[in-house]
Amino acid sequence: MAKVGFIGLGNMGGHMAHNLIKAGHELKVFDLMEAAVSLAVERGATACASASEAASDVDVVVSMLPAGKHVRGVYADASGVIDSAAPGTLLIDSSTIDVPSARDVIAAAAEKGLEMVDAPVSGGVGGAEAGTLTFMVGGTDEAFAKAKPFLDIMGKNIFHAGAAGNGQVAKVANNMLLGICMIGTSEAFNLAKTLGLDAQTFFDISSTASGQNWSMTSYCPAPGPVPTSPANNDYQAGFAVDMMLKDLRLAKEAAETVAAQTPLGQHSEELYTKLSEAGHGGLDFSGVIKMLAGDL
Ligand code: NAD
Repeated sequence: MAKVGFIGLGNMGGHMAHNLIKAGHELKVFDLMEAAVSLAVERGATACASASEAASDVDVVVSMLPAGKHVRGVYADASGVIDSAAPGTLLIDSSTIDVPSARDVIAAAAEKGLEMVDAPVSGGVGGAEAGTLTFMVGGTDEAFAKAKPFLDIMGKNIFHAGAAGNGQVAKVANNMLLGICMIGTSEAFNLAKTLGLDAQTFFDISSTASGQNWSMTSYCPAPGPVPTSPANNDYQAGFAVDMMLKDLRLAKEAAETVAAQTPLGQHSEELYTKLSEAGHGGLDFSGVIKMLAGDL
């Protein structure tokens, strides 16, 4: 069994760390929130006073932090993870962050001779708890091979997306598509309803026709057709508007760095910004259907 330093024990990281403990690994944990650390300790982890301590004398470091600036700080600051980790320590960052931060931090680790992968996830808090996350991994073949046994414990589908940063590229491109599809699906249900076609009938037709997509069949924004979708639970998240907005902003920034044309991605970002600024950042992202219908 391995010694694992785990940094960032929030909604996602708390469950991911728990799954590593349940698999028999020895965890040293750090978070700025005392309550998150206490919960991990109750589950069998050892508390650390800093990220540096969590990264010392371990085989692997896993982090699950809010954004690029936190990852840069935790890894690349003086006395950060890169300074503190012993040679041979594998570094895995699973946070969803901007592509340049991911590539810069992995390059800084490589300068010190440390292998590191970016390994953002999809699957949400439910997937983190159940250990069924999808991991999109960027890094060398060797680093991927070393990371995979640990990712297998926390996830179900583990993809090697290519070189450093490519995990983040896969994540932002996928979530930009998700945002666009959710808005398109919402527009279609609203149009059908306004023209006199009920949601269930439209669903039955479109879900077996060319409009079929995940936002419709697994997460339908109209109440009724998909019983498990947040639309049937007052649009409680789920995947919150502000989380979608974060990913759409990352996609927009990434597109700008390479002058890629993403007009629908940009328009989606504007619509989700409007929804968030109207005070609905905590609503499930499928709630955009209500704003598009003029109900919010
Ligand atoms: P969260 O805010 O619940 O957790 C982040 C944790 O990091 C917090 O406990 C915070 O105290 C800690 N933290 C912040 N700065 C720190 C530092 N310098 N040192 C140590 N700890 C620090 O967020 P989350 O929902 O767990 O999401 C984590 C990451 O996963 C984000 O990048 C998010 O975009 C991504 N993600 C989240 C979901 C989801 O459904 N929640 C799904 C996919 C991906």
